[in-house]
Amino acid sequence: MSQLQTVRGTRDLFQDTNQRHRFIEATASRVVELYGFDEIQTPILEPAGLFLRSLGDTSDIVTKQMYLFKDLGGDELVLRPEGTAGVARAFIQEGMSQLTPLKLFYRGPMFRYERPQKGRYRQFHQFGVELLGVEKPQADLEVLACGYRILKELGVLGSITLHLNTIGDEASRTTYRDVLVAYLNTRKSELSQDSLSRLEKNPLRILDSKDPGDRSVVASAPKLSDSLTPEAKAFFTAVLTGLKALEIPFIIDDNLVRGLDYYCHTVFEFTTDALGSQNAVLAGGRFDGLIKDLGGPETPGVGWAFGIDRLAELLPNLTASPQPIALVPLGEEAEQAALLLAEKLRTAGLKTDIGYSGNLAKRMKRADKIGARAAVIIGSNELAAGIVQVKWLGTGVQESIALSELGTRLTQFPASASK
Ligand code: AMP
Repeated sequence: MSQLQTVRGTRDLFQDTNQRHRFIEATASRVVELYGFDEIQTPILEPAGLFLRSLGDTSDIVTKQMYLFKDLGGDELVLRPEGTAGVARAFIQEGMSQLTPLKLFYRGPMFRYERPQKGRYRQFHQFGVELLGVEKPQADLEVLACGYRILKELGVLGSITLHLNTIGDEASRTTYRDVLVAYLNTRKSELSQDSLSRLEKNPLRILDSKDPGDRSVVASAPKLSDSLTPEAKAFFTAVLTGLKALEIPFIIDDNLVRGLDYYCHTVFEFTTDALGSQNAVLAGGRFDGLIKDLGGPETPGVGWAFGIDRLAELLPNLTASPQPIALVPLGEEAEQAALLLAEKLRTAGLKTDIGYSGNLAKRMKRADKIGARAAVIIGSNELAAGIVQVKWLGTGVQESIALSELGTRLTQFPASASK
């Protein structure tokens, strides 16, 4: 029988990676709370219609990346590929329009059937924010400042650049669409198969194609910025002015359009040059039409999501977790005592591990292996006399310590002092 393994593109996460994920989530949660975001948890399973109606028929997610299946009752479900649509559904379902302006954040696993590679998984983890009910560019600026602050606090800004663009309002895009399609038609023979199929349905997506042939066509394409309505132009100018005032550096990228139908006006991506081809770390934009398109009241919104897995790969080394104390009981009576002693030490805030089996040598070896700073050797005779032997593993020095003083002595000897 073949051995059971994780599904392709999914991973078991262990020690160091989990520590990084926890650190990122804790930092981001702390920062978003400074901005007034409250947590929302939406289900991982959502009705397929939610994504079919919000992301767009020609988006990569809908055309080829959704984990879509019928459950035993015959309902069409999707393992959520992103977080914004679920937040919008919850907003409508719970009648939250009275609560705007509303700031929500979410975190958790997302699923996309993509070709797995470094930094790209089929189950990955996102942390995101949505600011709902504010149509002014101040909202875009606040979410951008919040994302920037998280990346700064994580110490990863060094390799990261903010790319920004506007895709304007509906009227700007309608005008531009015609101009762009007219141009692309003149160079049709140079376009990739993918772009040819997008030419009618979603020509804007051709702008961010990675295909070299497409890119050279796009290089001389008319610019969306020349088709902006005065309102859309003023909106973008306000965002740019605000970013300068906030001293957040950015690059305007004319070809950044983002892949989903629900975006309008500001779109952005913080990208890194340190992770190879999977370079987007935090990305988002404005989605004024989404909630209305899903059947809710007209509610503007702006938000972003970052990939926890990708940021974890960028993070500098974390400070090591505290070294534990290893209890090494010898004999049955001592083992009982060790259990109680371990609880006492944990109450005093000391990370404590008990050697479960083996002779003294074996248990001492385990103490070394887990990186303990002290081994507390508990023998039955000494126990009766109320003392234990403490071996400081950094120096090899061993001493007798009264049980009554043990907690204080171990607390007084931080890792560095025992070396
Ligand atoms: P998106 O929703 O595609 O804009 O993605 C937002 C962020 O999620 C990206 O910038 C990545 O950091 C992360 N992300 C998206 N797809 C994946 C994936 N397949 N594997 C790992 N991280 C991902």
